[in-house]
Amino acid sequence: MGGTVLDGKRISREIQEELRPRIAALAARSRPPALAVVRVGDNPASEIYVRNKIKACRDLGIRSIEIRPPGNISTDELIESLKPLTADRSVDGILIQMPLPPQIDASAVTMYVIDPMRDVDGFGVISLGYLVLNEPAPRACTPAGILELLKRYQIPIAGRHAVVVGRSNIVGKPMALLLLHENATVTICHSKTSDLAGECRRADILIAAMGRPAAITASHIKPGAVVVDVGMNRISDRSAVQSLFAHDPVRLAAFDKNGSVLVGDVEPRAMQELSSAYTPVPGGVGPLTIAMLMANTVQIAETRLGC
Ligand code: NDP
Repeated sequence: MGGTVLDGKRISREIQEELRPRIAALAARSRPPALAVVRVGDNPASEIYVRNKIKACRDLGIRSIEIRPPGNISTDELIESLKPLTADRSVDGILIQMPLPPQIDASAVTMYVIDPMRDVDGFGVISLGYLVLNEPAPRACTPAGILELLKRYQIPIAGRHAVVVGRSNIVGKPMALLLLHENATVTICHSKTSDLAGECRRADILIAAMGRPAAITASHIKPGAVVVDVGMNRISDRSAVQSLFAHDPVRLAAFDKNGSVLVGDVEPRAMQELSSAYTPVPGGVGPLTIAMLMANTVQIAETRLGC
């Protein structure tokens, strides 16, 4: 028994396969789409994220450009260094890989500097404004991927109660707005919510995006709810891993091999047993983010090239 697994890897592949003919049409008519990724400094996590994005571009025939400003650059210098990229009209999507070094004002760079027409991550103020108005513009990739996943699994949204835990500008808030535009009744929870478990138990669709390993437990989940676990938390404490995955010898073996495992924001066993459908971690939300980045890049290229 247990909920249906919402297979993010499969849906991600599906989305990317559907992009191939659109990319081929762009290449035949004008040129392939192009994505520029700005990676500041040497953050190892960023290196992996960027490598995966560039690989996805290569696999699909999207041209990728990686820009590597030094890790000690100031906010003003970074903004200045982006000007040639902005001037290069052959680039469709531009993104700044997070996290940025601490001396950089990340909001200033992501929200106000990227050309709104090419804001492929949808983090800029103009893109966010269009989202509020439900007008077309690139949407933040993770929430857009979650919506796509729910739709492709034909999970009804209209009229249902969705609870989003987390109110960040890149996940929680855009997710809540996307669900609202699909006519869900939406509650947004955050660290000051007074009865988190009570609010979550009202959810037909529960989205956990808080960055707190396994903080959502059986007491937060209404039986039969659809649970989407956005959290990606790496834990290396053996006793925590043991208590979370006592039922899962595969994950315990993975921990023994690697010394850490990836855990979502939802307690995995509770999610499997109580939900009607759920996204596993890993293999749920994560793969969708890259697929939607590719989709946004293609969409921007089509708009810019008039296709
Ligand atoms: P942020 O840290 O920016 O935001 C976390 C949010 O959760 C905040 O709004 C915070 O509330 C809320 N929160 C934190 N603790 C609690 C609590 N105890 N109870 C209720 N609310 C709480 O994180 P992000 O939105 O960037 O990311 C969230 C998670 O999603 C992370 O684990 C991240 O790694 C993952 N992620 C995964 C992606 C993927 O592709 N799978 C992509 C992006 C993120 P407050 O505002 O009050 O501080």
